[in-house]
Amino acid sequence: MRELSRREVLGALTALGAGAAAGCGSGLEAGDFEIPPGWRAGEERSIPTTCGQCPAGCGIKVRVFEGRAVKIEGNPAHPINAGGIGPKGQAGLQLLYHPDRIRGPQLRNGPRGSGRWTQITWDSAIERLAAELGALRRAGHPEGLVLIDGEPRGVVPRLWDRFLRAYGSPNHVTHASTSEGARALAMRWMQGSTELPAYDWENTGYVLGFGVGLFDSWCQTIHMSRASGALRRGKPGQRAKFVHVASRFSVTAAKADEWIPIEPGADGALALALAHVLVRDGLYDRAFVEAHTFGFEDFRDEHGVAHAGFRTVIAEFAPEKVSRTTGVAADRIVRIAHEMGAHPPVIALGDGSACGATNGLGTAMAIHALNALLGSVERTGGVLTERRVLASWPPGELDGVARAGLAAPAVDGRDTARCALGNGAIQSVPDAILSGRPYPVKALLLYRSNPAFSKPEGRKWREALGAVPFIVSFSPLPDESTAWADLVLPDHTYLERSEVVEPAPSSGLPLIGLRQPVVAPRRRGMATGDVVVRLARAMGAPTAAVFPWPDYAAAVGALPQSLASKDGTPRVVSALLPAMHETGTASGERSFEQWDTAFATPSGRFEFYSQGIRARLGAVFADDDALNRHLVAEGVRDRGDRLCLPRWEPPRFAGDAAAFPFVLAPYRGINYAEGGVRHLPWLRELPAAGLLAWEETIDMNPDDARHLGLAQGERAWLESPVGRRRVCVRIAPGMRPGMVGMPLGHGPWPPRPEDPDIAGGHGLLAALSDPLSGLHAHQGTRARVRKEEA
Ligand code: SF4
Repeated sequence: MRELSRREVLGALTALGAGAAAGCGSGLEAGDFEIPPGWRAGEERSIPTTCGQCPAGCGIKVRVFEGRAVKIEGNPAHPINAGGIGPKGQAGLQLLYHPDRIRGPQLRNGPRGSGRWTQITWDSAIERLAAELGALRRAGHPEGLVLIDGEPRGVVPRLWDRFLRAYGSPNHVTHASTSEGARALAMRWMQGSTELPAYDWENTGYVLGFGVGLFDSWCQTIHMSRASGALRRGKPGQRAKFVHVASRFSVTAAKADEWIPIEPGADGALALALAHVLVRDGLYDRAFVEAHTFGFEDFRDEHGVAHAGFRTVIAEFAPEKVSRTTGVAADRIVRIAHEMGAHPPVIALGDGSACGATNGLGTAMAIHALNALLGSVERTGGVLTERRVLASWPPGELDGVARAGLAAPAVDGRDTARCALGNGAIQSVPDAILSGRPYPVKALLLYRSNPAFSKPEGRKWREALGAVPFIVSFSPLPDESTAWADLVLPDHTYLERSEVVEPAPSSGLPLIGLRQPVVAPRRRGMATGDVVVRLARAMGAPTAAVFPWPDYAAAVGALPQSLASKDGTPRVVSALLPAMHETGTASGERSFEQWDTAFATPSGRFEFYSQGIRARLGAVFADDDALNRHLVAEGVRDRGDRLCLPRWEPPRFAGDAAAFPFVLAPYRGINYAEGGVRHLPWLRELPAAGLLAWEETIDMNPDDARHLGLAQGERAWLESPVGRRRVCVRIAPGMRPGMVGMPLGHGPWPPRPEDPDIAGGHGLLAALSDPLSGLHAHQGTRARVRKEEA
């Protein structure tokens, strides 16, 4: 596909957005000046609903005056945030009233990038979409349909899943490999759980966080801020300690009791060294390990074959040996291990930068192994298994076309060697599209996804989007990917739609949240849940047969749920809704030590030695030779049993060290909301962003900057092997020498998709992966910094 010119794409975005239609660029419409139907002059309401600026799902109350939302506050009755709210939550108003929101469905009526869009009705938009997808299915290629779904949990992903199954596409591609995937995979292989872990923060004695921005931008930031009060002052005479391990000094590092700077990619080695000391010095919970774990000691399997256990692995990670690798002094490692052993219950968690190298899965398992060693799993003050409230509707029948399509390999590499221990790799999708392997991608649906901006190797994504014949975006705002779309079906914002929300796991409470419209929907958008239901029904059999509901609300109400219903009504969501309209949430009781359900592993125990991994490798690779060839090709050092255990080996990096002397450290700053930072002025202006809030910045150690002749605020080119970006230098004494900090999600607004240098940071990252799980190694790209010539 040819490159779009700047004029073409700006024209396209302007036509998509609201500014042009309003004439004055304010985005206001005539009706905005009138009190909407159902409201009286002077009337004010406080409407409980659920925040949607991040996956945490905090309860909020929106103050609505004369039908206009004017203030967002935390809901004091909500178990997650208990009235707390952060700036991202409050900035939701700017999303709701954003002047650039897309006005109703838009159909492209000229070449891509021509800026020619026709506003169409929702009926004709859904008819058009149904016709395109119907033709693809009738041609016998349902597998050619790919959905990229940016919503990690909830009802809409379930609807999409149901639609794709009935349609016959195996391609429900999620963002897991580029976000929270490592922690989830550690739970999968060590506990047999498909959920992220939850944490009993309030009752813990010690928190050891590896790379996780607990007080920056994490999926539990508000809950964690509240919990930290209980953690430090909740019990007279007791104060839990919080230790933060990370290469970069952040808000979280500043709030921690102790910050341990570490070499990039070395977190797993430190975790194994801590385990070494805990075992060597008899500080681990022997009773828990004996009663509830498998694979701690060497063992023989049912065929009499000997296998190494966890104790054998950690014998090689003596603090003195690991000290050089990690940059953490041996006596400090010993002290931290002794502190952990002395202050149970302990929470060890790794996320973000810790699990973002090519050794991500092994590192996540090494960190999670500390929880089992210290007896913290399923215990008060420890790490809990999330128990979901929502189930799914009964499955529907599949026809022959669907069965054939579902049998095709997925385009994200799921079930192949490079994702053997993972759930697919979204970063591999552009290669699949461009190569046409395993088959051509004919239609691409982008739900809460803007891969051209927020996924690695942005240039390649743009090329790949240009190669897909039919693209639909559901974005309510124009973005880099909508410029390539053929059809844009703008979603409601979370303040305009009704839905039931499954928040990211936090305290272990079984909990769901209600979202209800606080104002009448704006800009002729439609909730994507309704679009899916209408699409499935418009397509007729077989998709219509598994969507018996007239609309999304009916589908939500019929969803099975596990919370007790006191009056004997069926256990479906509709039974909970009347009360949820008042409180915004429904929850059950936390449970601990549910040993019969805690570990869905082959042994029924926490598995240091993952029998699941062993079985999975056996299923994906034809034999040991095939596995070993893959390991050699990918530069993996470990073999055999070691692959089934928490492990660490040195990370690999994309880019030659001589040409690219720095290691990029991308991070989500305190102002990172869904979709990034750039579209919401309140977030750009947060004090934490510093004086250069409106610029795309990098953080450099003062010595590194001085060496390159760079001063605070000077312009430079940041170049990686896959892209470059003009940036502003921020001198950061807490930045490790040899590393460049890169806050994600920044860039110009409105977006400039025609710009060959991708904004936002993600586009500079190579699509390097953990070679067995497919997790994106987002901390694995080298870069150089070049002073901009005057
Ligand atoms: S933590 Fe997330 S869900 Fe909670 S208020 Fe902030 S942005 Fe909203």
